[in-house]
Amino acid sequence: MSTDKMTIEEVKDELLKEGEDYGLTKGIPKPFLTLPGAQRVAKYYGYKHAFEIQESVEQHQEKFYFYRVICRVVSEGEIIGDMIGSCSTHDSGKGKAPPNSILKMAEKRAYVSAILYVVAGSGLFSADVEDMSPAELNVSEDGVKWFGAKWSNGFCAACNNKHISEGDMVGKVDGKWMAKDCYDHLQSVENSNPPEEESQEDKLAKTLQTKDYAAEMFKEEA
Ligand SMILES: [Zn+2]
Repeated sequence: MSTDKMTIEEVKDELLKEGEDYGLTKGIPKPFLTLPGAQRVAKYYGYKHAFEIQESVEQHQEKFYFYRVICRVVSEGEIIGDMIGSCSTHDSGKGKAPPNSILKMAEKRAYVSAILYVVAGSGLFSADVEDMSPAELNVSEDGVKWFGAKWSNGFCAACNNKHISEGDMVGKVDGKWMAKDCYDHLQSVENSNPPEEESQEDKLAKTLQTKDYAAEMFKEEA
C-alpha cells in the first residue's frame, strides 16, 4: 500500500456509505463490510483478485452442493494475501439454491474476507454477514440459540411432531426444543395476523360523526 493512500479508517469515513458499503446487524459487535463495500475498497487501493475452487462436492441427485474457494488479492502483479470462503446447500436459507449461486456465495465470502485481510481491516469490520441468516450466526433476533441437531426423530414442541433429524437447526424456546423451520413458521403466522375487525361500536361512532358533521354543515348554510 503506497503511503499517499488513505488508511482503511479514512476510507471508511471518506468513501464508504453506511447501509450500502457496510452495516450493522444484531449480535455482531463490528459493522460488516458488504460486497459493494469490499469492491469500493479494492478499487481505491487498485487491488485485483483471482478465485480458485479448492474443493467442490456436487451431488446432483441429493441436490447437495459445496464449494470452497480461495480468493487471492493481487497488487502491482504480486499476491499480497488470500482468504478462503465456503458455502453449501446445508447453509441456512441455501437449501434450494442452485449450484452456481452456492459457488458465488463462497466466492463472495472469500473475497470480502481477503480484502479485509489485506487492508488490515478486520479490527474495523466483520466479514460480510449481509445475507447470512441469524441461524448461521446461531442466534435469532429474539435471542434463541440454534444448533445443528445431533439426534434423529427428535420431538418438536412447535408442531408436536417427531420430525427433527440430524443436522436440522434446533433451539430451546421456553425450555422446549423445536425445529427452527417450525419456529420461523410460528413467528410468521404470529406476525401476519390480520388487523382486528372494526367493531360495531367503532363503525357506529364513525357513522354518527359523519352525520354530526353533515348536520353542522346544514346549520351553517341555513
Ligand atoms: Zn416441527
